[in-house]
Amino acid sequence: MQSCTDTALESISLYFQKITDLCNKNADFPEELHTCLQTASSIISKLTHFPEKVESDDIKCPGTICRDTYQEMAEVREHTGNTIHKMLLQLTGAKHILYLPDCSSSSVLSSLGVLVPEDGRIVVGMSDLHEKEVTQGSLWKESIDMRIGPTTDILKELVASGEQFDTVFIDATEQNLINYYNLIISSNMLKMNGVICLQTKTSQMNSSNENETVARKITDVINADPGVEQIFCPGYCSVTVAKRKPLPPTVVLEKGISNDAVFSGYNRCCILDRLRLDGKVAYVTGGGQGIGRAFSHALGEAGAKIAVIDIALEKAKTVALELELKGIKSVAMAADVSKEEDVQRIVDNIVANWGRIDIACNNAGINMNSASEDTTLEEWDKTFNVNLRGLFMCCQAAGRVMLSQGYGKIINTASMASLIVPHPQKQLAYNTSKAGVVKLTQTLGTEWIDRGVRVNCISPGIVDTPLIHTDALKPLVQCWMNDIPAGRLAQVTDLQAAVVFLASEASDYMTGHNLVIEGGQSLW
Ligand code: NAD
Repeated sequence: MQSCTDTALESISLYFQKITDLCNKNADFPEELHTCLQTASSIISKLTHFPEKVESDDIKCPGTICRDTYQEMAEVREHTGNTIHKMLLQLTGAKHILYLPDCSSSSVLSSLGVLVPEDGRIVVGMSDLHEKEVTQGSLWKESIDMRIGPTTDILKELVASGEQFDTVFIDATEQNLINYYNLIISSNMLKMNGVICLQTKTSQMNSSNENETVARKITDVINADPGVEQIFCPGYCSVTVAKRKPLPPTVVLEKGISNDAVFSGYNRCCILDRLRLDGKVAYVTGGGQGIGRAFSHALGEAGAKIAVIDIALEKAKTVALELELKGIKSVAMAADVSKEEDVQRIVDNIVANWGRIDIACNNAGINMNSASEDTTLEEWDKTFNVNLRGLFMCCQAAGRVMLSQGYGKIINTASMASLIVPHPQKQLAYNTSKAGVVKLTQTLGTEWIDRGVRVNCISPGIVDTPLIHTDALKPLVQCWMNDIPAGRLAQVTDLQAAVVFLASEASDYMTGHNLVIEGGQSLW
């Protein structure tokens, strides 16, 4: 019988079945032993078929394949490998992949499209491939970089060109597997936190011992390497998965290497992790549209819970729903930031619900236009009530919470209009209110820093939001463009990294800063 035994478990199951069959033929066999064998056989058989219970439509389950296609070993192996490959890519979000299958069968080729992430690239190394297969079918995508030739040559070529990968899949016989692994690790081909998936298998039942030996050898190689850690042991289909550690646990202090915060990361965190906001509580005023909406998404994507605050509750609710759809904890709240009671209510509500406020984004603002000689006190007051008085009330209410916590980040939205006088529109009250936001930020930033509260502001140039889609401002777009070295208006997405940086501990030494993001406009 040609047997499908990709794992030790499957081999044991088949041996148990054979022993049970032999017992059944032997009448002298003790009844109790017979029952024990049958029970053990049944348990193991359920274990080998366990994966069937977790199959989904797009991931063909190894268990099902084994059951259905006992005769078709090659197909079984490839599908099983693909399942694990695809699962790993989904879990790690890898963008740059190296795939070294041990054969160029049509099913390996057809699976490539599935393995390439939408905005990623896969380099596939194959020993041989017919030209017809290369140019035909679904195989050919720009994101698939097919290299034909001996695997070692392909690897050397990749090393020479300095390629690095998030995930590497190797499917090879034992010694090749270990050689390729060593070459990949020693040449730094696996990126920081990269994952390597090693697969080897045999097709005969009597070779399961061999399988185990190979798996053990690979485990030994990985265990002996301080730069990686095994995250998935050889089990189903003899796959071993290992992850590159950011740093070996013990750093060898040689060749002038010092084990300081620069080398090992501040608090042993790499810079991208230091920008994360996991577990932080944030609010964004004017979060219902435009810049505030983009800030809410950015802070939420970085890990914070978001209270979306807007005078227009429906808009805030829509943004909160968007966030929830992305798995970000959020709540919508209505408030007019020019009203003291509204400001205190939202701050109290956030603290009551989530216990604290770590990040306060005081972003709500309005823009009104008139020649200075015609600017009414009503326009002046309205602008100042929202842009400066309202912002001050938010800073004060959130600041009190943060001062009592001993930590907090306040990020105010000012404007490039705090620095230059944008033209040709006339907006005296707006410009002056935004200059006030910068001075308020500088003053609070210096007053509260020694009690853990940092206050900074972002000054965008002209951003394409509903704020500039008014009858007065819309016709001026072309005129503004001539003043912008970057040659375009800002998009809200141009501001997102800045708010995350200012909200994160990575910017803890910054306070009272006005971060100008205007495509160079204030420099001309
Ligand atoms: P926007 O008009 O598109 O959005 C502002 C949001 O704030 C709206 O959802 C609105 O309902 C809300 N809001 C208005 N008054 C409020 C109040 N009293 N209380 C609570 N919410 C209120 O504006 P935007 O372009 O996203 O601007 C956001 C901030 O960025 C403002 O402070 C603005 O001055 C500043 N800014 C904008 C630009 C630009 O070109 N768009 C440039 C520099 C600075």
